[in-house]
Amino acid sequence: MKIVLLGPPGAGKGTQAKRLVSAYNILHLSTGDMMRAAAAAETPLGHEIKKTMADGKLVPDPLIMAAVLERISQADAKHGFVLDGFPRTMSQAVMFDDLLELESAELDHAIQLRVDEEILLDRIMIRAREMQEASGDVRLDDNHEALKVRLRTYNEQTAPLIEYYQSRAILRSINGLLPADSVTAELLTLIGCSR
Ligand code: AMP
Repeated sequence: MKIVLLGPPGAGKGTQAKRLVSAYNILHLSTGDMMRAAAAAETPLGHEIKKTMADGKLVPDPLIMAAVLERISQADAKHGFVLDGFPRTMSQAVMFDDLLELESAELDHAIQLRVDEEILLDRIMIRAREMQEASGDVRLDDNHEALKVRLRTYNEQTAPLIEYYQSRAILRSINGLLPADSVTAELLTLIGCSR
């Protein structure tokens, strides 16, 4: 099972991806988590990635592609994966499809979590507060300034992927404003019934 979750920051992709992992025994591939790990390294590249992320901008495609390719070639991806935060640009999407094609594989589902942008800021600020309470850590990009850039970047560079996957007839859409359990139930129904 190979799934892409699409939606702006704060749409609930990470939460839903984790639930799909337990339902299907697939890999949760979050490029955001991978980049946060890379940014933690005390190297020039780590510092560069950290700054890019803190500004709410996108990490260059070649770095992302290399990280994704390396990860999906590992044994725990053999039953498939749910992609959370990738692809985020048209060129990432096309490169990834080409890559799967080389292995005679293809994506099964691209699922869009639709949300109202007005409420995203609230959601992200709640997440920042919860993380702060739980671990003392707050994402450097969970603040008003970076969020504005992240949303603009999503609308300009990632939202066009919705049409791209629609043209490939694998796009499904869910109301991401429903309670998380209802979103999961819809997600499982869509995935279970549509192929
Ligand atoms: P996320 O946790 O998915 O919101 O990602 C956090 C940040 O990591 C993004 O704002 C980007 O700076 C970087 N990032 C994650 N995934 C990608 C990607 N597919 N392409 C470029 N940058 C990414």
